[in-house]
Amino acid sequence: MRRIGIITTVVVLLTAACAKPAQEHLSDYVSTLVGTLSEPAYSTGNTYPAVAMPWGMNFWTPVTAERENDGWAYQYDKRRITGFKQTHQPSPWINDYGAFSILPFTGDDAGGSFFSHNSEEARPYYYKVYLADYDITVEITPTERAAVMRITFPESEHSCIKVNPFQGGKVSCDGEWTRGYSVQNHGGVPEGFRNWFVIKADAPVQKQFTTAHGQVVTLYLASSFISAEQAQLNLDEVLDRPFEEVRNSAQARWDEVLGRIRVSGGTLGQKRTFYSCLYRSTLFPRKFYEIGPDGQPVHYSPYNGKVEPGYLYTDTGFWDTFRALFPLLNLVYPDVNAEIQAGLANIARENGFLPEWASPGHRDCMIGNNSAAVVADAAVQGITSREDLEVLYKALVHATENVHPTVSSSGRKGHEYYNSLGYIPYNVGINESVARTLEYSYDDWCIAQIARLLERPQEEVDLYLSRSHNWRNVFDAESRLMRGRNADGSFQEPFSPYKWGDAYTEGNAWHYTWSVFHDVPGLIAQMGGENEFVQMLDSVFKVPPVYDDSYYGYRIHEISEMQTADMGNYAHGNQPSQHMLYLYGWTSQLAKGQQHIREVMDRLYSATPDGYCGDEDNGQTSAWYIFSALGFYPVCPASGQYIIGTPLFPEAQVTLSGGKTLKISASGPGPVYSTVKLNGRTVRDNTLDISAVKQGGTLRFR
Ligand code: CA
Repeated sequence: MRRIGIITTVVVLLTAACAKPAQEHLSDYVSTLVGTLSEPAYSTGNTYPAVAMPWGMNFWTPVTAERENDGWAYQYDKRRITGFKQTHQPSPWINDYGAFSILPFTGDDAGGSFFSHNSEEARPYYYKVYLADYDITVEITPTERAAVMRITFPESEHSCIKVNPFQGGKVSCDGEWTRGYSVQNHGGVPEGFRNWFVIKADAPVQKQFTTAHGQVVTLYLASSFISAEQAQLNLDEVLDRPFEEVRNSAQARWDEVLGRIRVSGGTLGQKRTFYSCLYRSTLFPRKFYEIGPDGQPVHYSPYNGKVEPGYLYTDTGFWDTFRALFPLLNLVYPDVNAEIQAGLANIARENGFLPEWASPGHRDCMIGNNSAAVVADAAVQGITSREDLEVLYKALVHATENVHPTVSSSGRKGHEYYNSLGYIPYNVGINESVARTLEYSYDDWCIAQIARLLERPQEEVDLYLSRSHNWRNVFDAESRLMRGRNADGSFQEPFSPYKWGDAYTEGNAWHYTWSVFHDVPGLIAQMGGENEFVQMLDSVFKVPPVYDDSYYGYRIHEISEMQTADMGNYAHGNQPSQHMLYLYGWTSQLAKGQQHIREVMDRLYSATPDGYCGDEDNGQTSAWYIFSALGFYPVCPASGQYIIGTPLFPEAQVTLSGGKTLKISASGPGPVYSTVKLNGRTVRDNTLDISAVKQGGTLRFR
């Protein structure tokens, strides 16, 4: 009887456990290792496994690099961990600033330890690894401006925790407290820039100490770009909180952010890829502001070297992220972009120029004046305050006639030619002249949209609208491609549509010809009509992946990534191509676009360390996947429209602001869907009005 009684109890307990299914944590679908199997010559993402809060001020990453200034801080195929770094790096090509690192060890300082990915756990909210040579386990969990590191030591008489403030930095230790600062940077900061850090250990830690088997030392870490006092204040985010509590809070925050989009019905691999991409889409641009003693946002300005009130975000290149990342924020996280836009207005107040590549201040990188698109898309969607928009508009207009005095990629290089001739000539010593002309042309269209919103005088609106036609000046009717044009009006000779760089930016004529985001019907007309336009689009895939790299003198990694993708001259691994497949939506050949889009989703993305087909680039390449998996894409930011594609999941649900939801459903596996209905009404011209989408309801693909 007694035995039966025990068994009954067990059965009841099991039944109770089964009745309550384990809570689904979307954050556990994420692999932070996606894109880390990269090297300078070949990128599968060029990412690092950031353990961080969404848009958090500080990220942490394990480091496998031997040199402290190596942009490739964590490479998946390396075998040794050399430290754990507080990082602000947006891209290995831009490198880091304000970084410092920590390495616990036992015995002699060997500068790192052997490790295995089998003994590593890499999640957005938690990182854990076993350092084999030291018999030490390290765990990290973040808050927005602080973190907790838990170190489990073996029995040892020579245990150490090394804090490296990097070259030029300072560090001092006093019992439980370690304080210092990092001055590391690669530009984009004024004189006197410092990242002040403070570390409190939960036990007195001298240079060397004795540990018992399994002894845990917990480090509470925080930092500030403002002052040592502010760093101490930021430490309150974690001080003396249990590790598990901080980790659970971080996971809950990630689950909430990722949970704004819920997908179902796909494979586990698709779900893992989707949420790994959504994680990458919600890291950058990161918060650069802090919360002052009065509870108000305050920031150190890398634009004037002063401490200023209000928001500031940084670490993004608008050349990449205007395309899909900012439109994604505007759809799903408009409150975050409201802060980013307020921050951009602060930047305009602080130095008159908006950045094009910010890390943390102006960086000389890439081309265009695409801050106009970033500002306009938010403005058109009603996200920016009128007061800030006036300030932003003034800065955008200023940029059309000026170039930043020291950073030539902020403002508009070549504006004199562009404003007088209508294009930047190929033969006047300004590189990437066609790409600049095309992007300025679209940017002018964006400025015109803001001018309309602000009810500026009609002649002002007309000026920018007329300049928005300037793309026509570099269109060569003979080749039907965008082509360098000399100051005397003649086209560049010789001309190869396979030549990368030169008149284009990290691409060739086959890639850049489609950069007329705001006037696709105009481009179709210039090419001679729909048949010719479709023929040209098709040709991108039909021509083999041949290339001319003579401008660079070597095969840049974007070329290699185009070659290996096996899609002809289509280069999904770099941004100029990424809207191209959706241009079929302006023709009767939508199905062709849908097939290519699905192929890219299926074949060029995965939740593996080599899971991207080129640089991920601060959420842009990931945001392409998010939009594409939902079934539409923002070809022209600031137009208020999405273009139809092909949804990946049978069901998806997007939580919008104001408690509204958009339910997306697809009947049949696709990829070709010919009927799309929003709230029962058939979608015309493959175009969705964003304002209607944001009202929520149902979007059905059949
Ligand atoms: Ca890129």
